[in-house]
Amino acid sequence: MNFQSNLEYAKQLDKLDQLGGFRSQFHLPTDQFGKPHLYFCGNSLGLQTKNTKSYIEIELEDWAKLGVEGHTEGTFPWLHYHEFLTEGMAQIVGAKNHEVVVMNSLTVNLHLMMASFYQPTKSRFKILIESDAFPSDKYAVESQLRHHHFDPESSLILWSPRAGEELLNYEDLEQIMAEHGEEIALIMIGGVNYYTGQYFDLKRISTLGHHYGCTVGFDCAHGAGNVALNLHDSGADFAIWCTYKYLNSGPGSLSGCFVHERHANKPNLNRFAGWWNHNKETRFNMRQPFDQLYGAEGWQLSNPPILSMAAIRASLDIFKAAGMPALIEKSNKMTDYFEFLLSDFKEDRLKVITPKNQDERGCQLSIQIKNADKTIHEKLTQAGVISDWREPDVIRVAPVPLYNRFEDIYLMVELLKHLPHD
Ligand SMILES: *Cc1c(COP(=O)(O)O)cnc(C)c1O
Repeated sequence: MNFQSNLEYAKQLDKLDQLGGFRSQFHLPTDQFGKPHLYFCGNSLGLQTKNTKSYIEIELEDWAKLGVEGHTEGTFPWLHYHEFLTEGMAQIVGAKNHEVVVMNSLTVNLHLMMASFYQPTKSRFKILIESDAFPSDKYAVESQLRHHHFDPESSLILWSPRAGEELLNYEDLEQIMAEHGEEIALIMIGGVNYYTGQYFDLKRISTLGHHYGCTVGFDCAHGAGNVALNLHDSGADFAIWCTYKYLNSGPGSLSGCFVHERHANKPNLNRFAGWWNHNKETRFNMRQPFDQLYGAEGWQLSNPPILSMAAIRASLDIFKAAGMPALIEKSNKMTDYFEFLLSDFKEDRLKVITPKNQDERGCQLSIQIKNADKTIHEKLTQAGVISDWREPDVIRVAPVPLYNRFEDIYLMVELLKHLPHD
Protein backbone atom coordinates (compact mmCIF):
# COMPACT_ATOMS: atom_id res chain seq x y z
CA MET A 1 0.00 0.00 0.00
CA ASN A 2 1.06 3.55 -0.62
CA PHE A 3 0.63 5.11 2.76
CA GLN A 4 1.20 8.78 3.52
CA SER A 5 2.68 10.38 6.56
CA ASN A 6 0.26 13.13 7.45
CA LEU A 7 -2.66 13.62 9.81
CA GLU A 8 -5.25 14.19 7.08
CA TYR A 9 -4.40 10.87 5.50
CA ALA A 10 -4.63 9.02 8.84
CA LYS A 11 -8.03 10.60 9.45
CA GLN A 12 -9.11 9.57 5.98
CA LEU A 13 -8.18 5.95 6.72
CA ASP A 14 -10.34 6.14 9.84
CA LYS A 15 -13.23 7.55 7.87
CA LEU A 16 -13.07 4.66 5.40
CA ASP A 17 -12.73 2.08 8.16
CA GLN A 18 -15.88 -0.05 8.37
CA LEU A 19 -15.02 -1.18 11.90
CA GLY A 20 -14.48 2.39 13.14
CA GLY A 21 -17.83 2.42 14.94
CA PHE A 22 -16.73 -0.21 17.44
CA ARG A 23 -14.47 2.29 19.21
CA SER A 24 -17.57 3.96 20.69
CA GLN A 25 -18.45 0.68 22.39
CA PHE A 26 -15.38 0.92 24.66
CA HIS A 27 -14.48 3.03 27.66
CA LEU A 28 -11.31 4.90 26.70
CA PRO A 29 -9.06 5.91 29.59
CA THR A 30 -8.54 9.68 29.65
CA ASP A 31 -6.26 12.31 31.12
CA GLN A 32 -7.45 14.63 33.90
CA PHE A 33 -9.14 16.88 31.33
CA GLY A 34 -11.14 14.04 29.81
CA LYS A 35 -8.96 13.69 26.69
CA PRO A 36 -8.60 10.02 25.68
CA HIS A 37 -5.12 8.60 25.97
CA LEU A 38 -3.48 7.00 22.98
CA TYR A 39 -4.00 3.49 24.33
CA PHE A 40 -1.65 0.85 22.89
CA CYS A 41 -1.77 -1.68 25.70
CA GLY A 42 -4.52 -4.00 24.52
CA ASN A 43 -1.87 -6.73 24.51
CA SER A 44 -1.60 -6.32 28.27
CA LEU A 45 -5.06 -5.29 29.43
CA GLY A 46 -7.86 -4.83 26.93
CA LEU A 47 -10.30 -1.97 27.45
CA GLN A 48 -13.71 -2.34 29.05
CA THR A 49 -16.61 -2.70 26.67
CA LYS A 50 -19.57 -0.49 27.54
CA ASN A 51 -21.88 -3.52 27.62
CA THR A 52 -19.80 -5.22 30.35
CA LYS A 53 -21.62 -3.50 33.17
CA SER A 54 -25.10 -4.47 32.01
CA TYR A 55 -24.08 -8.09 31.40
CA ILE A 56 -22.70 -8.30 34.94
CA GLU A 57 -25.75 -6.52 36.32
CA ILE A 58 -28.01 -9.22 34.93
CA GLU A 59 -26.17 -11.74 37.09
CA LEU A 60 -26.16 -9.49 40.17
CA GLU A 61 -29.91 -8.98 39.81
CA ASP A 62 -30.60 -12.67 39.31
CA TRP A 63 -28.51 -13.47 42.37
CA ALA A 64 -30.41 -10.81 44.38
CA LYS A 65 -33.82 -12.00 43.18
CA LEU A 66 -33.30 -15.73 42.95
CA GLY A 67 -30.50 -16.72 45.28
CA VAL A 68 -29.49 -20.32 44.71
CA GLU A 69 -32.25 -20.79 42.16
CA GLY A 70 -30.29 -18.62 39.73
CA HIS A 71 -28.36 -21.79 38.92
CA THR A 72 -31.37 -23.12 37.04
CA GLU A 73 -33.85 -20.23 36.83
CA GLY A 74 -31.53 -17.33 36.01
CA THR A 75 -31.76 -15.40 32.75
CA PHE A 76 -28.58 -17.26 31.80
CA PRO A 77 -28.66 -20.22 34.20
CA TRP A 78 -25.36 -20.41 36.04
CA LEU A 79 -25.13 -24.18 35.84
CA HIS A 80 -24.59 -23.87 32.10
CA TYR A 81 -22.96 -20.48 31.99
CA HIS A 82 -19.65 -21.59 30.50
CA GLU A 83 -21.58 -23.09 27.59
CA PHE A 84 -22.76 -19.61 26.59
CA LEU A 85 -19.12 -18.76 25.89
CA THR A 86 -18.09 -21.86 24.00
CA GLU A 87 -19.15 -21.09 20.46
CA GLY A 88 -17.88 -17.50 20.40
CA MET A 89 -14.57 -18.56 21.87
CA ALA A 90 -14.22 -21.55 19.53
CA GLN A 91 -14.69 -19.24 16.54
CA ILE A 92 -12.05 -16.82 17.74
CA VAL A 93 -9.39 -19.52 18.17
CA GLY A 94 -10.46 -21.71 15.24
CA ALA A 95 -11.57 -24.79 17.13
CA LYS A 96 -14.57 -27.09 17.33
CA ASN A 97 -16.98 -26.29 20.15
CA HIS A 98 -16.17 -29.42 22.11
CA GLU A 99 -12.46 -28.59 21.97
CA VAL A 100 -12.86 -25.37 23.97
CA VAL A 101 -13.72 -24.50 27.54
CA VAL A 102 -13.37 -21.33 29.62
CA MET A 103 -12.17 -22.02 33.16
CA ASN A 104 -9.62 -21.00 35.82
CA SER A 105 -6.79 -18.63 35.05
CA LEU A 106 -4.07 -19.13 32.49
CA THR A 107 -1.15 -20.49 34.49
CA VAL A 108 -3.50 -22.82 36.39
CA ASN A 109 -4.73 -24.21 33.08
CA LEU A 110 -1.16 -24.64 31.88
CA HIS A 111 -0.51 -26.86 34.88
CA LEU A 112 -3.74 -28.81 34.34
CA MET A 113 -2.73 -29.37 30.72
CA MET A 114 0.70 -30.53 31.77
CA ALA A 115 -0.87 -32.98 34.22
CA SER A 116 -2.27 -34.65 31.12
CA PHE A 117 0.21 -33.85 28.37
CA TYR A 118 3.51 -33.94 30.20
CA GLN A 119 3.92 -37.62 30.96
CA PRO A 120 7.68 -38.09 31.34
CA THR A 121 9.39 -41.47 31.20
CA LYS A 122 12.99 -42.38 32.08
CA SER A 123 14.15 -41.83 28.52
CA ARG A 124 11.73 -39.12 27.36
CA PHE A 125 11.30 -36.40 29.95
CA LYS A 126 12.62 -33.08 28.61
CA ILE A 127 10.55 -29.98 27.89
CA LEU A 128 11.32 -27.57 25.06
CA ILE A 129 10.32 -23.90 25.30
CA GLU A 130 11.39 -20.71 23.54
CA SER A 131 14.35 -19.06 25.28
CA ASP A 132 12.46 -15.83 25.92
CA ALA A 133 9.24 -17.45 27.09
CA PHE A 134 6.89 -15.44 29.30
CA PRO A 135 8.19 -15.80 32.87
CA SER A 136 5.06 -17.49 34.24
CA ASP A 137 5.31 -20.19 31.56
CA LYS A 138 8.98 -20.75 32.26
CA TYR A 139 8.38 -21.03 36.01
CA ALA A 140 5.45 -23.37 35.38
CA VAL A 141 7.41 -25.82 33.21
CA GLU A 142 10.41 -25.71 35.56
CA SER A 143 8.16 -26.56 38.49
CA GLN A 144 6.60 -29.44 36.52
CA LEU A 145 10.08 -30.83 35.89
CA ARG A 146 10.89 -30.62 39.61
CA HIS A 147 7.50 -32.12 40.47
CA HIS A 148 8.52 -35.17 38.45
CA HIS A 149 12.00 -35.15 40.06
CA PHE A 150 13.93 -33.85 37.06
CA ASP A 151 16.49 -31.09 37.19
CA PRO A 152 15.38 -28.03 35.15
CA GLU A 153 19.06 -27.21 34.52
CA SER A 154 19.50 -30.29 32.36
CA SER A 155 15.91 -31.09 31.40
CA LEU A 156 14.74 -27.80 29.95
CA ILE A 157 15.76 -27.25 26.32
CA LEU A 158 15.66 -23.70 24.99
CA TRP A 159 14.93 -22.69 21.42
CA SER A 160 17.06 -19.54 21.19
CA PRO A 161 17.65 -16.84 18.59
CA ARG A 162 21.01 -16.79 16.85
CA ALA A 163 23.68 -14.48 18.21
CA GLY A 164 22.77 -10.86 17.52
CA GLU A 165 19.19 -11.73 16.45
CA GLU A 166 15.86 -11.54 18.24
CA LEU A 167 13.59 -13.82 16.19
CA LEU A 168 13.53 -17.59 16.28
CA ASN A 169 14.40 -19.76 13.29
CA TYR A 170 12.60 -22.96 12.30
CA GLU A 171 15.84 -24.48 11.00
CA ASP A 172 17.25 -24.20 14.51
CA LEU A 173 14.19 -25.91 15.94
CA GLU A 174 14.55 -28.72 13.40
CA GLN A 175 18.18 -29.07 14.42
CA ILE A 176 17.26 -29.31 18.12
CA MET A 177 14.61 -31.90 17.33
CA ALA A 178 17.03 -33.97 15.22
CA GLU A 179 19.42 -34.01 18.16
CA HIS A 180 17.07 -34.30 21.12
CA GLY A 181 13.64 -35.21 19.70
CA GLU A 182 13.60 -38.64 21.34
CA GLU A 183 14.31 -37.15 24.78
CA ILE A 184 11.66 -34.43 24.58
CA ALA A 185 8.28 -35.22 26.12
CA LEU A 186 6.63 -31.83 25.62
CA ILE A 187 7.05 -28.79 23.38
CA MET A 188 5.40 -25.71 24.93
CA ILE A 189 5.71 -22.49 22.94
CA GLY A 190 4.09 -19.06 23.27
CA GLY A 191 1.99 -18.92 20.05
CA VAL A 192 2.80 -15.21 19.68
CA ASN A 193 5.93 -14.30 21.62
CA TYR A 194 5.11 -11.62 24.19
CA TYR A 195 8.41 -9.77 23.69
CA THR A 196 9.09 -9.78 19.95
CA GLY A 197 5.51 -10.25 18.73
CA GLN A 198 6.69 -13.16 16.52
CA TYR A 199 3.72 -15.35 15.60
CA PHE A 200 4.85 -18.90 15.11
CA ASP A 201 3.64 -21.42 12.57
CA LEU A 202 1.69 -23.58 15.00
CA LYS A 203 1.02 -26.29 12.47
CA ARG A 204 4.65 -26.57 11.48
CA ILE A 205 5.75 -26.87 15.11
CA SER A 206 2.99 -29.39 15.95
CA THR A 207 3.81 -31.54 12.94
CA LEU A 208 7.50 -31.49 13.74
CA GLY A 209 6.90 -32.30 17.42
CA HIS A 210 4.51 -35.14 16.63
CA HIS A 211 6.98 -36.57 14.12
CA TYR A 212 9.36 -37.12 17.04
CA GLY A 213 6.64 -38.44 19.36
CA CYS A 214 6.35 -35.34 21.56
CA THR A 215 3.15 -33.68 22.78
CA VAL A 216 2.78 -30.07 21.68
CA GLY A 217 1.03 -27.19 23.45
CA PHE A 218 0.82 -23.44 22.88
CA ASP A 219 0.29 -20.53 25.19
CA CYS A 220 -1.84 -18.24 23.06
CA ALA A 221 -2.22 -15.38 25.56
CA HIS A 222 -0.91 -12.97 22.91
CA GLY A 223 -2.70 -14.71 20.05
CA ALA A 224 -6.34 -15.10 21.08
CA GLY A 225 -8.41 -12.28 19.59
CA ASN A 226 -5.32 -11.03 17.75
CA VAL A 227 -4.41 -13.56 15.04
CA ALA A 228 -6.22 -16.43 13.26
CA LEU A 229 -4.98 -19.27 15.46
CA ASN A 230 -6.77 -22.16 13.69
CA LEU A 231 -6.04 -24.35 16.68
CA HIS A 232 -7.89 -27.39 15.43
CA ASP A 233 -6.04 -27.45 12.12
CA SER A 234 -2.72 -26.80 13.82
CA GLY A 235 -3.01 -30.27 15.29
CA ALA A 236 -1.68 -29.07 18.66
CA ASP A 237 -2.55 -31.27 21.62
CA PHE A 238 -3.55 -28.34 23.80
CA ALA A 239 -3.54 -24.56 24.03
CA ILE A 240 -4.38 -22.04 26.72
CA TRP A 241 -4.89 -18.27 26.68
CA CYS A 242 -6.16 -15.51 28.90
CA THR A 243 -9.17 -13.33 28.16
CA TYR A 244 -8.04 -10.03 29.68
CA LYS A 245 -5.58 -9.07 26.91
CA TYR A 246 -7.05 -8.88 23.40
CA LEU A 247 -10.33 -10.36 24.63
CA ASN A 248 -11.15 -7.40 26.91
CA SER A 249 -12.79 -9.26 29.80
CA GLY A 250 -11.19 -7.43 32.71
CA PRO A 251 -8.20 -7.81 35.03
CA GLY A 252 -7.51 -11.34 36.20
CA SER A 253 -10.39 -12.77 34.22
CA LEU A 254 -10.66 -16.41 33.22
CA SER A 255 -8.64 -18.38 30.72
CA GLY A 256 -9.59 -20.33 27.63
CA CYS A 257 -8.39 -23.85 27.10
CA PHE A 258 -8.24 -25.98 23.96
CA VAL A 259 -7.81 -29.75 23.91
CA HIS A 260 -7.68 -31.34 20.47
CA GLU A 261 -10.62 -33.65 19.82
CA ARG A 262 -8.33 -36.66 19.46
CA HIS A 263 -8.04 -36.49 23.27
CA ALA A 264 -11.75 -35.84 23.88
CA ASN A 265 -12.55 -39.22 25.26
CA LYS A 266 -9.56 -41.01 26.73
CA PRO A 267 -10.44 -42.36 30.16
CA ASN A 268 -6.82 -43.39 30.78
CA LEU A 269 -5.30 -40.00 30.07
CA ASN A 270 -4.08 -38.67 33.39
CA ARG A 271 -6.05 -35.71 34.68
CA PHE A 272 -7.48 -34.30 37.84
CA ALA A 273 -11.13 -34.44 38.71
CA GLY A 274 -13.76 -32.42 40.50
CA TRP A 275 -17.52 -32.27 40.30
CA TRP A 276 -17.43 -29.98 37.25
CA ASN A 277 -15.86 -32.54 34.92
CA HIS A 278 -18.35 -35.15 36.04
CA ASN A 279 -21.38 -35.99 33.85
CA LYS A 280 -23.76 -33.01 33.91
CA GLU A 281 -26.84 -35.23 34.05
CA THR A 282 -25.88 -36.88 37.30
CA ARG A 283 -23.72 -34.17 38.89
CA PHE A 284 -26.30 -33.38 41.54
CA ASN A 285 -27.23 -36.92 42.37
CA MET A 286 -24.06 -36.79 44.45
CA ARG A 287 -22.60 -40.04 45.80
CA GLN A 288 -22.03 -41.32 42.26
CA PRO A 289 -18.73 -42.69 41.04
CA PHE A 290 -16.87 -40.24 38.81
CA ASP A 291 -18.12 -40.13 35.22
CA GLN A 292 -15.83 -38.10 32.94
CA LEU A 293 -17.31 -35.44 30.64
CA TYR A 294 -16.42 -35.57 26.93
CA GLY A 295 -14.10 -32.99 25.35
CA ALA A 296 -12.38 -29.96 26.82
CA GLU A 297 -15.16 -29.62 29.41
CA GLY A 298 -13.74 -32.78 30.89
CA TRP A 299 -10.85 -30.76 32.36
CA GLN A 300 -13.02 -28.45 34.49
CA LEU A 301 -12.82 -28.88 38.24
CA SER A 302 -14.94 -26.23 39.93
CA ASN A 303 -18.07 -24.26 39.35
CA PRO A 304 -16.78 -21.04 37.77
CA PRO A 305 -17.04 -17.32 38.71
CA ILE A 306 -20.13 -16.13 36.85
CA LEU A 307 -19.37 -12.40 37.15
CA SER A 308 -16.13 -12.77 35.19
CA MET A 309 -17.84 -15.01 32.68
CA ALA A 310 -20.51 -12.35 32.16
CA ALA A 311 -17.72 -9.91 31.19
CA ILE A 312 -16.37 -12.48 28.74
CA ARG A 313 -19.82 -12.94 27.24
CA ALA A 314 -20.10 -9.16 26.77
CA SER A 315 -16.79 -9.10 24.94
CA LEU A 316 -17.50 -12.16 22.80
CA ASP A 317 -20.71 -10.55 21.57
CA ILE A 318 -18.66 -7.64 20.26
CA PHE A 319 -16.16 -9.97 18.58
CA LYS A 320 -19.04 -11.81 16.98
CA ALA A 321 -20.52 -8.56 15.62
CA ALA A 322 -17.14 -7.49 14.17
CA GLY A 323 -15.94 -10.95 13.03
CA MET A 324 -12.35 -12.14 13.31
CA PRO A 325 -11.57 -12.02 9.55
CA ALA A 326 -12.51 -8.32 9.34
CA LEU A 327 -10.62 -7.55 12.54
CA ILE A 328 -7.50 -9.26 11.26
CA GLU A 329 -7.70 -7.43 7.95
CA LYS A 330 -7.87 -4.07 9.73
CA SER A 331 -5.19 -5.12 12.17
CA ASN A 332 -2.77 -5.95 9.36
CA LYS A 333 -3.41 -2.61 7.74
CA MET A 334 -2.92 -0.70 10.98
CA THR A 335 0.31 -2.45 11.84
CA ASP A 336 1.59 -1.96 8.31
CA TYR A 337 0.78 1.74 8.62
CA PHE A 338 2.58 1.89 11.95
CA GLU A 339 5.62 0.26 10.43
CA PHE A 340 5.52 2.60 7.44
CA LEU A 341 5.47 5.67 9.70
CA LEU A 342 8.32 4.34 11.79
CA SER A 343 10.44 3.62 8.73
CA ASP A 344 9.58 7.02 7.26
CA PHE A 345 11.03 8.53 10.43
CA LYS A 346 14.70 7.90 9.84
CA GLU A 347 16.12 7.45 13.28
CA ASP A 348 18.98 4.98 13.38
CA ARG A 349 18.37 4.14 16.98
CA LEU A 350 14.90 2.72 16.27
CA LYS A 351 14.47 -0.84 15.11
CA VAL A 352 11.27 -2.84 14.85
CA ILE A 353 12.18 -6.34 16.00
CA THR A 354 8.78 -7.86 15.15
CA PRO A 355 8.68 -9.80 11.84
CA LYS A 356 7.68 -7.77 8.78
CA ASN A 357 5.65 -10.57 7.25
CA GLN A 358 1.94 -10.32 8.16
CA ASP A 359 1.70 -14.10 8.62
CA GLU A 360 4.37 -13.94 11.29
CA ARG A 361 2.92 -11.27 13.52
CA GLY A 362 -0.28 -9.92 15.02
CA CYS A 363 -0.97 -6.27 15.76
CA GLN A 364 1.91 -5.75 18.18
CA LEU A 365 5.12 -4.04 17.15
CA SER A 366 8.12 -4.23 19.44
CA ILE A 367 10.29 -1.18 18.90
CA GLN A 368 13.84 -1.43 20.08
CA ILE A 369 15.47 1.89 20.97
CA LYS A 370 19.21 1.46 21.18
CA ASN A 371 20.88 2.84 24.30
CA ALA A 372 17.55 4.03 25.61
CA ASP A 373 16.36 3.59 29.14
CA LYS A 374 12.94 3.69 30.66
CA THR A 375 12.81 7.50 30.69
CA ILE A 376 11.78 7.53 27.03
CA HIS A 377 8.78 5.42 27.93
CA GLU A 378 8.00 7.71 30.86
CA LYS A 379 8.07 10.72 28.54
CA LEU A 380 5.65 9.01 26.18
CA THR A 381 3.35 8.26 29.10
CA GLN A 382 3.45 11.90 30.17
CA ALA A 383 2.46 12.83 26.63
CA GLY A 384 -0.61 10.58 26.90
CA VAL A 385 0.64 7.40 25.20
CA ILE A 386 -0.13 4.22 27.11
CA SER A 387 2.41 1.68 25.91
CA ASP A 388 4.56 -0.87 27.59
CA TRP A 389 8.27 -0.94 28.33
CA ARG A 390 10.23 -4.20 28.46
CA GLU A 391 13.78 -4.23 29.69
CA PRO A 392 16.34 -3.70 28.38
CA ASP A 393 15.26 -1.42 25.51
CA VAL A 394 11.92 -2.31 23.94
CA ILE A 395 8.60 -0.47 23.74
CA ARG A 396 5.70 -2.72 22.86
CA VAL A 397 2.78 -1.06 21.08
CA ALA A 398 -0.36 -2.85 20.02
CA PRO A 399 -2.92 -1.01 17.87
CA VAL A 400 -6.08 -3.00 18.46
CA PRO A 401 -8.56 -3.01 15.56
CA LEU A 402 -11.65 -2.84 17.80
CA TYR A 403 -10.79 0.50 19.39
CA ASN A 404 -7.61 2.05 18.00
CA ARG A 405 -7.61 4.52 15.13
CA PHE A 406 -5.10 5.17 12.38
CA GLU A 407 -4.99 8.67 13.84
CA ASP A 408 -3.74 7.24 17.17
CA ILE A 409 -0.86 5.63 15.34
CA TYR A 410 0.03 8.80 13.49
CA LEU A 411 -0.05 10.88 16.69
CA MET A 412 2.02 8.32 18.58
CA VAL A 413 4.77 8.32 15.95
CA GLU A 414 4.74 12.15 15.86
CA LEU A 415 5.27 12.21 19.63
CA LEU A 416 8.07 9.69 19.31
CA LYS A 417 9.73 11.89 16.66
CA HIS A 418 9.68 14.94 18.86
CA LEU A 419 10.93 13.34 22.01
CA PRO A 420 14.52 14.15 22.86
CA HIS A 421 16.30 10.85 22.32
CA ASP A 422 19.01 11.13 24.91
C1 LIG B 1 -0.27 -12.72 30.19
C2 LIG B 1 0.43 -14.01 30.16
C3 LIG B 1 0.42 -14.89 31.27
C4 LIG B 1 -0.27 -14.51 32.55
O1 LIG B 1 -0.70 -15.62 33.26
P1 LIG B 1 -1.88 -15.55 34.32
O2 LIG B 1 -1.95 -16.93 34.83
O3 LIG B 1 -3.12 -15.08 33.62
O4 LIG B 1 -1.48 -14.56 35.39
C5 LIG B 1 1.09 -16.10 31.14
N1 LIG B 1 1.73 -16.44 29.99
C6 LIG B 1 1.75 -15.62 28.92
C7 LIG B 1 2.46 -16.04 27.67
C8 LIG B 1 1.13 -14.38 28.97
O5 LIG B 1 1.17 -13.57 27.92
